[in-house]
Amino acid sequence: MNKNEYMEEAEAALVHTYNRYGLVIDHGKGVYLYDTNGKEYLDFAAGIAVQALGYCNREYNEALKNQVDRVLHTSNLYYNVPIIEAANRALTASGMDRIFFTNSGTEAIEGAIKAAKKYAYTRDGHAGHEIIAMNRSFHGRSLGALSVTGNEHYREPFGPLMPGVSFAEFNCLESVEELISERTCAVLLETVQGEGGIYPASEEFLCGIRKLCDEHDILLILDEIQCGMGRTGEMFAWQHYGVKPDLMACAKALGCGVPVGAFFMTERVAEKSLQPGDHGTTYGGNPFAGAAVSKVFEIMERENITGHVKEVAPYLEKRLDALVEKYAFLTARRGLGLIQGLVCEKPVSEIAAAAICQGLLVITAGTNVLRFVPPLIIEKKHVDEMIEKLERVLDEYNE
Ligand SMILES: *Cc1c(COP(=O)(O)O)cnc(C)c1O
Repeated sequence: MNKNEYMEEAEAALVHTYNRYGLVIDHGKGVYLYDTNGKEYLDFAAGIAVQALGYCNREYNEALKNQVDRVLHTSNLYYNVPIIEAANRALTASGMDRIFFTNSGTEAIEGAIKAAKKYAYTRDGHAGHEIIAMNRSFHGRSLGALSVTGNEHYREPFGPLMPGVSFAEFNCLESVEELISERTCAVLLETVQGEGGIYPASEEFLCGIRKLCDEHDILLILDEIQCGMGRTGEMFAWQHYGVKPDLMACAKALGCGVPVGAFFMTERVAEKSLQPGDHGTTYGGNPFAGAAVSKVFEIMERENITGHVKEVAPYLEKRLDALVEKYAFLTARRGLGLIQGLVCEKPVSEIAAAAICQGLLVITAGTNVLRFVPPLIIEKKHVDEMIEKLERVLDEYNE
């Protein structure tokens, strides 16, 4: 079939929840993807910050193939070795104490919310606890995760949602302080807001929230689903700030393509929260996911991926800043490490579509941001190639 036939079949069969770009992907290698016509694309989207190790990493692929031939799935009624290894690597990298594996980021958020509610329930002996989340946040599409997502447009058709959620202004500590009551059990935020438009938390904000949480025995839940796993130059973005969450959600690059998420907690939370019967999953933490997670941490640590990000990210920032200088309709750059955004006064989805024609994948965030979340293995030469291709698109918009 040709590209248009594939696209027509897809649109006839799949629920139309995405306006997809006109691109049928066939395979990938390193930081490049190839479509069914063999055209090459430099990938600065990485399947939305998932493919941190790029495509077809030989060692990773071998580990998965080996696991396929051993056992894929066992259920959580038994123990399995890959997930024990994965858990130990994840806990060592994060300094957290316990982990629950899920199949997605959304489920990791759901689990973290339940853990926070159960913690407060155990402490106080009654339910009815509330959560403070952030405007402009994104935590997922299930009803619980949607309830804490600060985007009215996503939430509105699906009400009534989970009650007891209020929204504060991101990077405004006072707005969080004002919402705290004796019913508050958790403050939830992305360390770097992703979908909302690439906004890193300020140090004052995150440290201030940590202090407020400590004062009121409120749990700090950090969503590291997009910004975690080395993307910012630390394994988890909060490690830049000298704070530590009580609960953390992780996914996307955790499995580098295998669908897996997790929520992490400290021992203090574990003691008072989820007990046998409180939470579960059939697939979550199966041996296949375990083999992926374990290998991802092993490779990232051995290859010093955070060191590499710290080296290449300043170069990306410099080249993006130069674009802001050059094009009047680009008004700002925001980001941390290899999660970067350009604020753009021209239609960003149009620009992303035009970039595809130039052989470049970039995506958007919020309503007016071009988002750059490349594989973490990119080199400076890939940054140069990206800028060259993007400039060809941007030149068309320069009146
Ligand atoms: C992608 C994302 C989610 C949802 O993860 P899924 O795997 O799509 O369920 C939640 N929070 C953040 C910050 C994300 O970027």
